[in-house]
This record gives sequence, structure tokens and C-alpha cells, in this order.
Amino acid sequence: MWKFYDWLPARSHTESRGATVTYRSDSLSRELDIDLYVAFNGYWPERGAEMLTCSFKELEAPPTIVRAREHGGKAMVLASAGNTGRAFAYLSTVTGFPLIVVVPERNVERLWIPGREPGPSVRLIAVRDADYSDAIALADRIAALPGIMPEGGAKNVARRDGMGTVMLDAAVAMKAMPDDYFQAIGSGTGGIAAWEAALRLRDDGRFGAGLPRLHLAQNRPFVPMLHAWEAGRRDIRPDMDMPDAKRAIAEMYSDVLSNRSPPYSIRGGVYDALKDTGGIVYGVTRAEAERAKRLFEEREGIDILPPAAVAVAALLQACERGILEGRRVLLNITGGGQERLEKEMPVYRIEPAQEVPGPDAPVEQIMEVLL
Ligand SMILES: *Cc1c(COP(=O)(O)O)cnc(C)c1O
Repeated sequence: MWKFYDWLPARSHTESRGATVTYRSDSLSRELDIDLYVAFNGYWPERGAEMLTCSFKELEAPPTIVRAREHGGKAMVLASAGNTGRAFAYLSTVTGFPLIVVVPERNVERLWIPGREPGPSVRLIAVRDADYSDAIALADRIAALPGIMPEGGAKNVARRDGMGTVMLDAAVAMKAMPDDYFQAIGSGTGGIAAWEAALRLRDDGRFGAGLPRLHLAQNRPFVPMLHAWEAGRRDIRPDMDMPDAKRAIAEMYSDVLSNRSPPYSIRGGVYDALKDTGGIVYGVTRAEAERAKRLFEEREGIDILPPAAVAVAALLQACERGILEGRRVLLNITGGGQERLEKEMPVYRIEPAQEVPGPDAPVEQIMEVLL
């Protein structure tokens, strides 16, 4: 990804090989009868894809850690449902930058390092009886301690610019920006990043004058941004847009896509990105995602993560609506090749440094054990 060094907010770089690989789809493209490109984020050696933690979170971690170091950061904390934690733990291992990862206990198995032992700079905290939002609550409290910086989420420019390299890579591979961009969202930061990168490419002038239309997919039954968007609202109203959130999240096909406070209403957030690009939001059921996963894997020949299958399902919905004719489409496969990687490379589980009973656990005690 560092080939886009000039487009990233950092002065140095990391020794990691994860980058998006954009290619023209052959089989799926023919099946759907559309002009389809795939931005593949994951492990797929034949295509030169070496994103070893197998999700596009590995585009966020390198510039974020480099930038934190350059700004005098001593340690970082973040909450994760799995993919972010895995990517940052890997980059912490590669760079030695101290990192605390807070995860719901049930997602601990998603935390591993490809091809080598986890480094001593990585500290994992598992929270019992917790979902992703609970992990966020605890990480926020740890971030308030002196010497520890939060990863920053959607407000972290390094994170957005890192994810924005998906659009940069596509523009280079397609020799122009796509007309349409498909992605599954939980926070929607990837959608914001795609939009911001497109704004810069438009300013640059070599890759087209129009902005790609954003097609952002949420996973039913937890679809707060879909509800707000369809109601034409800039604000998310929890009682209307995510009633019974805990249960809805538990029923999701991909819990990676659950986020109860996405950067939707904020200026420059998901709402603005959708408005500016004439975007569309989709709701995808478990059955649709499962079918889409099978179809993609059969046609393209590589396994994909559940959230990526949600994006494929949205693409199928758009095809049915007939809105992609004559357009050049980019499908962001945000994670893939993990089954393949686990067959071909040893992965090393990260053992929790500590298990805590819930998000209200006293942080001073946690830190005593960690440090
Ligand atoms: C985080 C994640 C998403 C959602 O990304 P956002 O743009 O931050 O909502 C989609 N797919 C995968 C594989 C992810 O890890």
C-alpha cells in the first residue's frame, strides 16, 4: 500500500505487504452481465494478494501506527469485533508499537498473527458477556488514561486514507474511477474513505470528473443507517432505527457489521458521502448473504468473509433492479482468503493478557495487570 505513500499522512512506512489487488472479474461479471471489477483485500497468492490478516482493516493499521509513532504516541488502545484487532495486532508485532486490544470474549478466536508468534507489544483484553459496543465502552475508558491514545475510529485521518487506497488502486487498475462502488458497512468509514479518495482523484483530474456512486450494504436485522437514510434523516433515532439492538445484533449473519454509533450524521460522514454521490443503502438478509457467498466463491475461486458476502448480495440486488447497465462497477471484497491462508500458513492465537467480567471493570486494576 506504500506505493501510495504520497497520498498517505505519514513520513515513514512499515514492512508489511498487505495491499488491495484490483482485477477485472471474468466469470461473475459474465454471469451478471455487468462490467465488474473486484477490489480484493485478503490472501490470494496467485493474484499477488498478500494481506495476511485477510481483511481491509490491514489498510488502516499501517498508516495509523506510523502516524501515531511520528506524533510521539507511546501506546494505543482499540476495541474490535475481530478484524481490526487482528490487523492492528499484526502491525504492532511487525513494528513493536505497544497496543491494547479490547474484544468481546466470544470473538477472541479471531485474534491471531499470521506466520509468526504475537509480539510482546500486543496486549489483549477479553470482555465476558459483551458485544462490540461493550468493548468500545471499555476501550474508551482505557484511552482516557495518561500515555494511552485511542485509535480514533472514523475521525482518524490515517485510518480513512489507508482505506482510501482501495479507490486509488481501482482508479489505477481501471484507468479511471468506477461509476459505482459496493461495500458492506458497519461504521461506514470505508464508504467515507472511498468518497474522500474520489474527491481527491477528481481534483487530480486524470481519473474522471464524476464521483462513484456509493452502494453501501447493511446486514439485517441490524440496519440503523438504512432506516435513517430511507426516512431521509441525517440523524439516527435509536428507538426507530435500531429497536431492540442487542437482539438484532445477536441475529446478524456478520456481527462485524454491527455498530451502534456509526459516523453517519457528523459533517463529512456517511450521510454526506451518500448525498454527494447519489448513493444507495441496502439491507441484506442472512439467506441473501449466504447465497451470494456461494456464488462469488464458485465463480471467482476464492473464499470470502461474511461481511464481503453482504456486499456481493447488495450487488445482486442492484443487478435485479437493473441499475448497473452500461456502468463500470467496483466491488470491494473487504475480506477474503482466510480459509485458504489457514491451510497454507501457521497462524498463532493471541492469548488474552486478561479477562474482565464486563465493560464496567475498573481500569486501574486492568492496567496494573497489563503493564
Ligand atoms: C470492518 C469491516 C467492514 C465494514 O467496514 P466499515 O466501512 O468500517 O463499516 C466490512 N468488511 C470487513 C471484512 C470488515 O472487517
